[in-house]
This record gives sequence, structure tokens and C-alpha cells, in this order.
Amino acid sequence: MGNRSLPSQGRPANEVLADLAAKRDGDVRWAEGRTFGLVFDGGTDVRAVAEEAASLYFHENALNTQAFPSLGAIQSELCRWTADLLHGGDDTAGFLTSGGSESILCAVEAARERARAERGVTEPELVLATNAHAAFHKAAHLFGLQARVVGVGDDWAADVEAMADMVGPDTALVVASAPPYPQGVVDPVIEIAELAATVGANCHVDACMGGFVLPFAEMEGRSTPAWDFRADGVTSISADLHKLGYAPKGVSVLLHRSRDLRRYQTFEFDGWLGGRYATPNLQGTRSGLPMAAAWAVVQYLGVDGYRRLVRTTLNTADRIREQVRSIDGLRVLGDPVHHLLAIAADPDSDRPIEPFALGEALAARGWHHDRQGPPESLHLTVSAGNAAALDEYLSDLTSAAEESRGGPSGRATNYATLE
Ligand SMILES: *Cc1c(COP(=O)(O)O)cnc(C)c1O
Repeated sequence: MGNRSLPSQGRPANEVLADLAAKRDGDVRWAEGRTFGLVFDGGTDVRAVAEEAASLYFHENALNTQAFPSLGAIQSELCRWTADLLHGGDDTAGFLTSGGSESILCAVEAARERARAERGVTEPELVLATNAHAAFHKAAHLFGLQARVVGVGDDWAADVEAMADMVGPDTALVVASAPPYPQGVVDPVIEIAELAATVGANCHVDACMGGFVLPFAEMEGRSTPAWDFRADGVTSISADLHKLGYAPKGVSVLLHRSRDLRRYQTFEFDGWLGGRYATPNLQGTRSGLPMAAAWAVVQYLGVDGYRRLVRTTLNTADRIREQVRSIDGLRVLGDPVHHLLAIAADPDSDRPIEPFALGEALAARGWHHDRQGPPESLHLTVSAGNAAALDEYLSDLTSAAEESRGGPSGRATNYATLE
């Protein structure tokens, strides 16, 4: 039941909080590991550390790090640790943002500013594949860049040859994803970054998903061809602490290969009656809570903690992929080897299964997946919190597949919603 008007008199706190708790009844039950995305659960201990750190920084404001030097230190330490993981040099530097989208917006804006300042580009272009996150299109829309879009290859990774045809003197930025959200197959970053360098453009690697997975996967013996600052020509990388970094929502890292490149990200204005104003990202007033919680989670987990969570995550994702491939009528799109996968109908089967009908059958069993397309598919971001429910999921997947075989298609795709 909704409260349609603001109460004219305040209500008792216990009533208000009880109402709020009741509002959550219809929400997905992420804490039981039944949600493949949206919430990434490192376990009750990780959550407890994050919550205690959050309570210390509930009210602090990172808008002014002179007033809150601790938040300045938290930001630079998180950036330094991430730069080390991603093989940046001594000069690699970054800022924290509120999330993946803001990191991407800032990276696009910095690329535009650099192209204008260093190459006189007045009609900047952004070259990207259809697997790159929609936030790049939001950035092009907001910041006045023309998006030049290419397709993906049969492997679902960005088509570099098609990108080469799009890159030219007006290119401000070329995008690679490690891995891209939809099918999870890492783009050929080395080739894409080389391509960007041929015209002096930036190359941003969107590792919002992979930034806190791929480095630890490599330590666990699952390496990927160079996709971080080891690839020449990569100028910036985004990595979301609030996804597989297991920090609560509201924090991502955006790194630039050098301080000179980072300069283009900062906005400064000195003609305001309020005085000189400078911000590193899109926010003004900026909560210290997610920054401090992320700092605590990263310190609490350390390299060995992340390796453990990544091991669990990748084993869980492998088992799910194996099961999907064993069910007649379904396939995994491409050959993703990390924590993402998309389940689609197998066109080679006599008895293909509609993925959205499968999604309905799984939803009826209490599992939440995002739907996407084209092609129509169920999307899974696997994280450590899903491991405890794995056996139940695998058996529900089999029974839901049988039930939905030949059934009608479910509702439309919905990665994000307006209300
Ligand atoms: C989640 C995601 C983003 C956007 O991040 P938000 O935190 O949702 O704003 C960008 N790129 C990739 C690959 C992502 O998975």
C-alpha cells in the first residue's frame, strides 16, 4: 500500500521503519543467492565490514577533501591499489566515481577534451561495438560526440576490422570491454588499443565487470591476452568496486594511464560568486559512505580474499555453462570464460527453448535473471553469493527448461527500468 501524501505530522520512527521493511516484500531475494546480477554478495562477513564502515561515514561529504582529508586518502589509496592490479605505472592516476556509468561518462568527456586540446578535433567521434555498454551512448548524447558503431564477430567480441574502417582524424575514443556485459567475451583489447593509437585517440577499456575479476582469475591460472595497462595504447580503464569488488552500491574506479591524461577529466570554474569550483567527476555533493565502505571491503578481503571469491565465482559459472550446454534446445552465446553468460535458444536443435519462457519458468521458481536481446537471451552475472544455491539452480534449470519447451515467449527485455 502506497502513502500518497506527505504526512502533515511526523510519524513514530518504529512505524515508519516497519512500513519501509514491508515495502521490500516484493523485491528479489538476493541474499539467498537467487539473483544473477544487481546485487553482488561477498558473504555475511564482507557485508558486516561494509556496513560498519558505512556507519562511520554515513554523513561525510567528499565534495571537499580539504575538510575531509580522510576521503581524499581513501580515494587515492583505492586508485593506487587498483592501478597496481591493472599494471599501471607510477604515473597512473584516477578518481572514484559513483558507478560504472559515471566512470564511462567521465572517460568519454576526458577523451573529447584531449582530442580538442591536442588535435583540434571539433566534431569528435566515438568508435564502439554493439557489445559496449549503453552508457557510452548516453555519454555521446550528453557530450555531443557522434557514435560510430560496428558489430561483433561470430565470437561476440568487437569486430576490430570493422572498427578500423570507422577510425579516422575525428576519432576521440575507441572502446574495448573486458568483458562486455551482454555475452561476456573479452574484446581483442591489444588490437583495439593499437588502432586508437594510430590516430592519437584515447582507448578506454570498460572493465566495470572484469576489473576485480580478471586480475585474480589470472593469479588462479586463467589468463586473458593483455587487456589492462600492459596493452600499449590503453589510456583509461573503469573498474566497478560496487560489482565484483563486493562493495555496496555507489563506487567505481576510473584510472588514466598518466596524470597528464587524467587532467582532462577535471572540471574547474573560477567565475562564480561562490569561489573557485573544481570537481573530478559529475557529482557535486558526494557521499563518503560508498568510498569508505569500499576501502574497508578491499582491505578486509585482500588479494587472497578476492582470489577465493573469484575461484568460487568462476567454478559456479563453469558449472552453469556446462549444464546449459547439456540441455537440448539451449545454448550459451559464444565462449565466455569468466562470470558472465547469456542463455539463448539453440537454433540447431529440433526442440529449441524460448529463453524468455525459460525466464518465466525460472522466475516462478524464485530466480531473477535480466532479459536481453537481440538475440533474445537470459543474462547471468554470476558472483560468489550464487554458489550456495548452485545445486538447486541447476536442477531448477533442467525442470524449467522441460516445462518451457515449446511454450510461449515471456515478457520483453529489461536491463533497466524508468520507474
Ligand atoms: C554495469 C556495467 C556498466 C555500468 O555500470 P553502472 O554501475 O550500472 O552504472 C558499464 N559497463 C559494463 C561492462 C557493466 O557491466
